[in-house]
Amino acid sequence: MRECFYGKARLSNVKGKDIDEIIKRLRALYPPDSFRRSDPFRVLVSTILSQRTNDKITYPTAEKLFDVFPDAQYLAKAPLSKIEEIIHRVNYYKTKAERIKEIANIIVRDFGGKVPREPKEMCELPGVGPKTANCVLVFGFGFPAIPVDTHVHRISNRIGLVRTKEPEKTEQELKKIIPRKYWIEINELLVRHGQEICKPIKPECAKCPIAEMCDFGMNALKTRKNERD
Ligand code: SF4
Repeated sequence: MRECFYGKARLSNVKGKDIDEIIKRLRALYPPDSFRRSDPFRVLVSTILSQRTNDKITYPTAEKLFDVFPDAQYLAKAPLSKIEEIIHRVNYYKTKAERIKEIANIIVRDFGGKVPREPKEMCELPGVGPKTANCVLVFGFGFPAIPVDTHVHRISNRIGLVRTKEPEKTEQELKKIIPRKYWIEINELLVRHGQEICKPIKPECAKCPIAEMCDFGMNALKTRKNERD
């Protein structure tokens, strides 16, 4: 079944001032003390492991990998077969194992074992695109950025914050309308919302605290009411 990104209702009034209210309500639901922060290299590797893989598999796999190879130096020297063995539960594990080893080698050789802070340099690493680089900026370095994954893209469109087809465009549009002070947390809030309530299929709008500010939610709730009347 296809994900449904868009509601049929008019654009809502969420642009501008109501962003504060959306963030406030999501924060109340997903307290910030449970957010994930880590060393930039670990964030980078975990984000690569997470591509097309469920979080329930990604995080334990990343922990196992870092138990054996804790940083770029260790991973650069690690046998490829051993990396593959440890991460075999994630999708495309052979390709990812190669990339991780290659990235570790580059980071050790060219950057003294530390992930570069410049997004442009990060995006030159194999398999690293803007979303991964933004994750490292936010969760590794604590710099403001907006990583746009499938949850952020879907929910931003459902709410009516943006009308975009591509995550890259969503990132550009969100940066125009989301105050910078919220960039560091917007990904985590929307990812958690996407996992728990605003799921790809059958979002639970009836229990969503931002339904009245969401195009898709308002439309869904109106349809339900009409069916009941
Ligand atoms: S009302 Fe909430 S759950 Fe429903 S689409 Fe909007 S954000 Fe998602």
